[in-house]
Parts: sequence; structure tokens; C-alpha cells
Amino acid sequence: MSAIEVEQITKTYKIGTQETHALRGVTASFNEGEFTALVGPSGSGKTTLLQIIGCLDQPTSGALRIKGQDVSRLNADQRADLRKGTIGFVFQFFALIPGLTAYENVELPLLLNGEGTAARKARVLELLDAVGLSERANHRPDQLSGGEQQRVAVARALSVRPLMVLADEPTANLDTENGKQVMEIMRRLNQETGVTFLFATHDPRVVSYATRVVQLRDGRIDDNHSAIPTV
Ligand code: ADP
Ligand code: ADP
Repeated sequence: MSAIEVEQITKTYKIGTQETHALRGVTASFNEGEFTALVGPSGSGKTTLLQIIGCLDQPTSGALRIKGQDVSRLNADQRADLRKGTIGFVFQFFALIPGLTAYENVELPLLLNGEGTAARKARVLELLDAVGLSERANHRPDQLSGGEQQRVAVARALSVRPLMVLADEPTANLDTENGKQVMEIMRRLNQETGVTFLFATHDPRVVSYATRVVQLRDGRIDDNHSAIPTV
């Protein structure tokens, strides 16, 4: 069974009388342990697809199944619960909470999930170590470089041991060296923990880390350009 399946997903945005068909029938499965790049021109639907898979938005039609469960049958609260336990997010602009330290940012999802004090502490320290930030635990986001902030975000995304991490342009605001470091850390964590990653990117250097490439074009998967990269 695939971890996550989307079947004939469409998404139409309506603003006044104007309709935008962001997704026009996308079918794909994402399996445990995959490290997949989602590529395609600006406007091809990458962000929309990540938001739907992450239960942040609902499709206009089609089905999303997470561990075999049809998400469209759930109400908003049930979807939020499912999301908290199964999906981690990494964003282009890091999206850390400014007033909290690196430690507290990574701890927050565990607190919200009701984890006990000792378990939280062990998990946060383990993750900060895994992303090379043990020495930065007490720094707030404005005291960290962009690369360090994104590594905190990766640790936070993994804190609740999700099934899948969704990353939208995770290196777009990093220089080459920091981007490389973030990709290497994500790839290592993917190999060590088996958690599935799906990351949208424009950058061929970032695509080269992928074990699978899914190409979107005009809201559809372009099978001719979706493959295992040869890089
Ligand atoms: P990508 O991430 O590949 O750049 P998006 O998923 O952001 O693509 O956008 C796909 C299409 O949907 C674009 O034409 C975009 O303008 C449109 N779109 C995205 N979000 C919204 C929204 N909230 N309201 C209206 N149109 C949107
Ligand atoms: P980069 O050159 O990668 O953007 P910076 O020059 O901003 O990084 O920061 C270099 C190091 O100094 C980083 O590891 C960061 O944690 C630390 N640092 C930056 N600003 C502050 C600050 N205001 N307080 C404490 N440490 C900081």
C-alpha cells in the first residue's frame, strides 16, 4: 500500500467570474522512503498539489488517501488531526516562530501532540544534533543564518515522526552552500528514517538529489519528463 495516493485530483480557483484550473487531474502515489522532486514551471500547480497532499487545502474533485484512508470523508477537525500526526512541512521562508528559540520551535509540535516532558526533550536534542545545531539550541530565528533556520525547520518537520515531509522550494532563499547542506541533511534523514520527502524546486542542483522526479505542466503530470534522474 502506498503511503499517500492522489487520484484524479483537480483544483479550480474562482475569483469573481475568473476560473483558474491549477490542477487538471493528477494521479500519483508516494511510497515510503521516496525522495521525490516535484518540478515544473511557475504556475504549473506545484504549491497547490503540496497544499492538497498536506491537507492544508481541499481539492475541487478527486481523492486523497493517506495510509488507505480517504481524506475527503473526514471533517475539518479530523483532517487537522491527521495532518498533525502524518505530515511535516518545510517552507521557502522557513516560517519559524520568531519569539521562540530553535529548541522551542522544534519542541512545539510535540507539545501540541501532548508528548511528555522527557520524551520531548530527548526528541528535540536528537533532532538538533541530526541537523547539526546542538550549539544553536537557544538561538532565536533572528540570531540564526538562513541555512540554520531552514535546518531548524527540517528538525521541526520531523519532530512528530511524520509519514511524509512536504517541502515547497526549501532552498530558494539559501545560497548554494547552505542549499546543499539542507538537501544533504534531508537526504540523510530520508535514508536513516525512511520518511518520505516530496519537495518542489526549480533548481537542477536540488533535483539531482532526488530518487524520483515528478514533472507538472499546466496542472497535469507530464509522464515524458517524470522519471528517475540519471544525474
Ligand atoms: P506553482 O507552485 O507551480 O508555481 P501554484 O500551485 O502556485 O503553481 O499555482 C497554480 C495556478 O493556480 C497559478 O495559475 C496560480 O496563479 C493559481 N493560484 C494559486 N493559488 C491561488 C489562489 N489562492 N487563488 C487563485 N489562484 C491561485
Ligand atoms: P551567514 O553568513 O550564513 O548568513 P551570519 O553571518 O548571519 O550567517 O551568521 C554567522 C553565525 O553567527 C551564524 O552561525 C549565526 O548563528 C550567528 N549569528 C548571527 N547573528 C547572530 C546574533 N544576532 N546573535 C547570535 N548569533 C548570531
